[in-house]
Amino acid sequence: MTQSPTQASTCDVSIVIPVYNEEDNLPELVARVGEAMQPSGFSFELICVDDGSRDDSARVLAGLAAKTPWLKPRYLMRNYGQTAALQAGFDAVGGRYTVTLDGDLQNDPLDIPDLIRTLESRSDISMISGWRKDRQDKALSRKLPSMLANRLISWATGVSLHDYGCALKAYRSELVKRIRLYGELHRFVPVLAFEAGAKIMEVPVRHHARTRGQSKYGIDRTFRVLLDLLLMKFMLRYLHRPLHAFGGVGLWMLVPGAGILGYLGVLKLLGESIGGRPLLLLGIMLALMGVQLIAIGLLGEILIRIYHEPEGRDQYRLREPPEL
Ligand code: UDP
Ligand code: MG
Repeated sequence: MTQSPTQASTCDVSIVIPVYNEEDNLPELVARVGEAMQPSGFSFELICVDDGSRDDSARVLAGLAAKTPWLKPRYLMRNYGQTAALQAGFDAVGGRYTVTLDGDLQNDPLDIPDLIRTLESRSDISMISGWRKDRQDKALSRKLPSMLANRLISWATGVSLHDYGCALKAYRSELVKRIRLYGELHRFVPVLAFEAGAKIMEVPVRHHARTRGQSKYGIDRTFRVLLDLLLMKFMLRYLHRPLHAFGGVGLWMLVPGAGILGYLGVLKLLGESIGGRPLLLLGIMLALMGVQLIAIGLLGEILIRIYHEPEGRDQYRLREPPEL
């Protein structure tokens, strides 16, 4: 499924769009991508990932693909969520550059060529994140929670952006191949990219109100983002070295525990009775817990290594294109 980074690029730009119940938006979306990309001179492909839509999106996609050579849809078995849909798109990327956007026409495909030209001229930058300076969403239910989330994420991760939530982003594809999305991590792609060593830039982009279909998220997303954020903060600090986290605490217990036991052992050898001493209990507890924590840390290291093997995770399953 995953392409090796050495494989030659098949085009300049791969555009990845997760799609869930967007049947009314798809024809215009595909048309607008074509209108934006064809005059730009960049060769491109459009990878629309149908995330198990309940409406007719899959069939609409298949119909459009039949007459659009650069449209390459993928169809997921069920609704896995936006993150898995994006990953399914990333796994199919063949272009030198990868661009993501939403399928609801809130992002404007006309921004894509500019983003790619910026990436071409700035070899130091490997990711551009869109900034909806003039965001067309409800203030209280969407913009305010986002503003708070942006502040919090910036604080928690040390990667400071105005607009984490903007779906319109452009990457060098090597970077896309280096990051793995799971859970709800699509919101934190800039953080993952930064962790992977990328230099990130923010560029203002256009933004339109959703005119057709419905947003898939409500206010409960704010809470999920908060939970993800806590997890992220924990991960950034510990994910890479569980041995340091658990093993550190473990050592702090094992060393005094072993010291106590050693001391009691010497007393015993000198002929003293050591049974029933509270110190004995403490020594045994500390030593046992210390050994266990270190063992957990070691297990964690093994898990992390397995985790970073891309083949080890099956986050989504594809299905055949729908019959037309
Ligand atoms: N989406 C998806 N799977 C889901 C939910 C959403 O692929 O389970 C897609 C959706 O079709 C859209 C993008 O993710 O292209 C963003 O969703 P939406 O516009 O509802 O989010 P909002 O813009 O309101 O944050
Ligand atoms: Mg939207």
